[in-house]
Amino acid sequence: MHIALIAHDNKKEEMVRFAIAYKDLLKEHTLYATGTTGTKIMNATGLDVHRFLSGPIGGDQQIGALLAENRIDCMVFLRDPLTAQPHEPDILALLRLADVHNVPVATNLAAAEVLIRSIKQGDFAWREIVSGKTFENPEG
Ligand code: PGA
Repeated sequence: MHIALIAHDNKKEEMVRFAIAYKDLLKEHTLYATGTTGTKIMNATGLDVHRFLSGPIGGDQQIGALLAENRIDCMVFLRDPLTAQPHEPDILALLRLADVHNVPVATNLAAAEVLIRSIKQGDFAWREIVSGKTFENPEG
């Protein structure tokens, strides 16, 4: 599974705690993150995370590019619903692409718990069946 992890500043602590709690599961998968989120996860857990640019300077769009190519299987995006973000258009574009490609997204910790448990149970085979695509064969 190719998992994208993003957290806004007020949610980074939550993301780090989430990554620590599910470290054993996450280490079995390929992880992508925006710059600062990825650094914090790596420092706290030692997990190997492919880091892109920081979100506000283009990291969200870089992850969006992977989504557009069907190279992300699920995304945990802990958004801060109470703070305006300068890169709001990038955030909307990212979420839109996830919907275009039927990629499951958790935008809060409660949903992230459900998502990660469903990965553990192997519930994600449906995505490949529905889309007919895999990471290795993104065109289907
Ligand atoms: P960051 O980006 O992980 O580099 O802080 C997240 C975001 O705000 O989109």
